[in-house]
Amino acid sequence: MRAMILEAPQTPLKLCEVPIPEPQEGQVLLEVKACAVCRTDLHIIDGELPPPRLPLIMGHQIVGQVIRQGPKAKRFNIGQRVGVPWLSKTCGQCRFCLSHRENLCEAALFTGYHLNGGFAEFCTANEDYCYPLPDHYSNSQVAPLLCGGLIGFRALGMTGTAQRLGFYGFGASAHILLQIAKDQGKEVYAFTRPGDAPAQSLAKKLGAVWAGSSEERPPVLLDAAIVFAPVGKLVPGALRSIDKGGSVICAGIHMSDIPSFPTNLFTGSGGYFL
Ligand SMILES: [Zn+2]
Ligand SMILES: [Zn+2]
Repeated sequence: MRAMILEAPQTPLKLCEVPIPEPQEGQVLLEVKACAVCRTDLHIIDGELPPPRLPLIMGHQIVGQVIRQGPKAKRFNIGQRVGVPWLSKTCGQCRFCLSHRENLCEAALFTGYHLNGGFAEFCTANEDYCYPLPDHYSNSQVAPLLCGGLIGFRALGMTGTAQRLGFYGFGASAHILLQIAKDQGKEVYAFTRPGDAPAQSLAKKLGAVWAGSSEERPPVLLDAAIVFAPVGKLVPGALRSIDKGGSVICAGIHMSDIPSFPTNLFTGSGGYFL
């Protein structure tokens, strides 16, 4: 099969011919129909997340069709369309797994990182961690939901009942979450790179009540902010933009350093902390 292979960090992916993988116990073999690109893939290529195995096939937002079942795999039928996300396997025994927080598992394995992923014609996946996909989404529509949508939805959930939300970084995840937040009756304030007029107009078109530069302050204080961009210097700006009792959620898997900031910066009031 053809696959895009990472041989070493900070080098381009290479198109190679490699054997089709054999599905192991509890795994399915999938013919890849679509695989979206995530910011995490770029962190892996850049060496910011060191690859645990090389050569590596990345890609963890996979839409595939089941073409074979490994031993004891019986959850999906041959021909069924399934989605494969970042989380590929957990231990089932650690304190996180036993408290319904398996995404934090101490021994988690990740798709396109520990296991080969979907930048290939075929891939294997642990069937317990695959999702059946509804028919009414096309392959290319549903693929970005498998990480940008899924991780973003978790970040949105962590904002609780917050009504006015700031989204810092308006890319793959934020533009999906904006539509969900709007549907939930929330107000979204979108912060983009300075001068990124196309992203700001997309945010407004999708229903943001305000869109501007990440260097600006919003017209009102916010109840919560989600920092989607992997840029630590956005965190003090987000803290400045939220009201007392607000939360700032960092949604990325990797972020540049957060610069130091004075603890009296919150909401500019000159003194309270949390
Ligand atoms: Zn991802
Ligand atoms: Zn675990």
